[in-house]
Amino acid sequence: MPDKYSVLKDVFGYETFRRGQEEVIDSLLGGRDVLAVMPTGAGKSLCYQIPALLMDGISIIVSPLISLMKDQVQALRESDVAAAFINSSLSYEEYLSTMLRVRAGGYKIIYIAPERLLQEGGADSWRAGGNISLVVVDEAHCVSQWGHDFRTSYMRIAPFINSLPVRPTVATFTATATERVKADIKAALALKNPFSITTGFDRPNLYFAVEKPENKTRSLKRHLGRLKNKNGIVYCSTRRYVEDVCEELASSGFSATRYHAGLSPEERRQNQDDFIYDRKTVMVATNAFGMGIDKSNVSFVIHYNMPKNIESYYQEAGRAGRDGSGAECILFYSYEDVKTNEYLIEKNAEENGSNELKEYNLELLKQITFYATGTDCLRGRLLAYFGESPPNYCGACSNCMTQFESVDITVDAQKIISCVYRLKQRGRRFGKMMIIQILRGGKSSKIVSEKLDSLSVWGIMKDSSERAIRGVIDFLMLNGYLAHSGGDHPTLVETEKSGEIIFAKKQLDMMLPKEKTPSKTLPASDSFSGDAALFAKLKYLRAEIAASARVPAYIIFADATLSAMSRKLPRTMEEFLQVPGIGAVKAEKYCEPFTCVIRDHIAGTLP
Ligand code: ADP
Ligand code: ZN
Repeated sequence: MPDKYSVLKDVFGYETFRRGQEEVIDSLLGGRDVLAVMPTGAGKSLCYQIPALLMDGISIIVSPLISLMKDQVQALRESDVAAAFINSSLSYEEYLSTMLRVRAGGYKIIYIAPERLLQEGGADSWRAGGNISLVVVDEAHCVSQWGHDFRTSYMRIAPFINSLPVRPTVATFTATATERVKADIKAALALKNPFSITTGFDRPNLYFAVEKPENKTRSLKRHLGRLKNKNGIVYCSTRRYVEDVCEELASSGFSATRYHAGLSPEERRQNQDDFIYDRKTVMVATNAFGMGIDKSNVSFVIHYNMPKNIESYYQEAGRAGRDGSGAECILFYSYEDVKTNEYLIEKNAEENGSNELKEYNLELLKQITFYATGTDCLRGRLLAYFGESPPNYCGACSNCMTQFESVDITVDAQKIISCVYRLKQRGRRFGKMMIIQILRGGKSSKIVSEKLDSLSVWGIMKDSSERAIRGVIDFLMLNGYLAHSGGDHPTLVETEKSGEIIFAKKQLDMMLPKEKTPSKTLPASDSFSGDAALFAKLKYLRAEIAASARVPAYIIFADATLSAMSRKLPRTMEEFLQVPGIGAVKAEKYCEPFTCVIRDHIAGTLP
């Protein structure tokens, strides 16, 4: 009799469970519903795939993510599991033949889009194929208005479950941790005394960094130069940014492609495939990209703009390093991103008329702004947000790698706010750039023609860098001592609190990185310790196999698996099976070609 351990080893090629996986599997095998909160990349699929393979009957996986379904089904079939998916990407003929096989009991695991659940004879067609013993709801927060991604099609799930002759065990998964969303999931899907678990939000192989670049594009290019030949995603907040950034990168010689909801379906599919099949290394995209992308060899995720909350950020950033190799998650912060998000939240609330929802979303925005502007451990912040007890120091984030010191910025703050007041007295308002120019004693034609150089504040910060002044202005805005006027050309305006600085002479301290922080370089992101030449050969072989099977390379083996091969140098079937990520079926298929390359390589490197 196979058990969970033998399935883990034989089908998936792993020796041990990750945190939380075993508990979820045990609950499901015992017939108890599950509500699991797991971050992207935590290893959720195994939690339901293993029970699905061990239970009698069929398992239905409801997911909104078309590309995820395809990927997972391909991966399962690679391991000889009878699996299928039903969604809008199937042609009518494909749909019919899939349903025919469903009715004939030909599948153990079926992925389905929620809008397809009650279609065509509904439960009857399923019943013919055998008992449904498990229903898995992926991205379960989609049933909740309070989730970030409510979908009406998710309202079909409960009636579907009720239409089945025997109630199946129901497993729900989400990366959203708020109590409100959890309560909604329990209620909407009528979970019975579910085993609730929040597991392992920490992703130790991810390095987290926040940067406040003066010029985002330039910083981005510098990073991409450093990360040459690695695959990664650059997230931008708008279609416009995606277009501009992608064009800029492509014209600078980077292998970049783009993705957003405004592109034609053909172009989206094409670009996504280019990225997934490793033909392009950088994907520039809005958050429309990536839901359900299972690509395991993403080595970095850079956020060009700050997302609207920590949940979205962690989900997107978490697409890096899914195969366990070292990967980087970098967030570019600018105060403008806070304003943009505020604006979107207000606008959304106007359309939906919900003040409560607005307050809630603004609070979430505040949390990610703290993440981006604070100086304590970034990983600690993230984990605390998800309700885990965080470390004070992780040693693998940009804040832990930087020494901060408290700097008295009272005088600078007084100068900046005075400048805003003086301009107001002249009946003039300007944006951040112009204020900085005036303070630094700039002589632009506008300054000269408006005689701004006759102001007492003109040039009073000529010894400060533009970057330093900008930093203080952002700090003042973030803390309510200055504000944006709003509109298309936002100008800086004073607030009720401004007076505290120039009249009450309140002291202000700001945490700044110490000059010459020892090293900002990354810790062992390149923890690759195997034989690089062999690794390249193995990758080449994998690419050939993947091309002839028409699947992405990572479906055959993850990078982490190839890297382990190049370290362990397996030459026999027995040794091959010892490599993490290689199960019995894959070993059977691929032992010969891979060990052959390894044997040749070793023979070739002998003296
Ligand atoms: P998600 O939770 O985002 O759905 P996946 O299920 O895709 O995450 O898992 C992410 C990666 O972790 C996959 O490459 C998977 O093979 C790997 N993984 C899952 N469980 C284990 C395990 N117990 N040991 C080693 N790797 C695992
Ligand atoms: Zn840290």
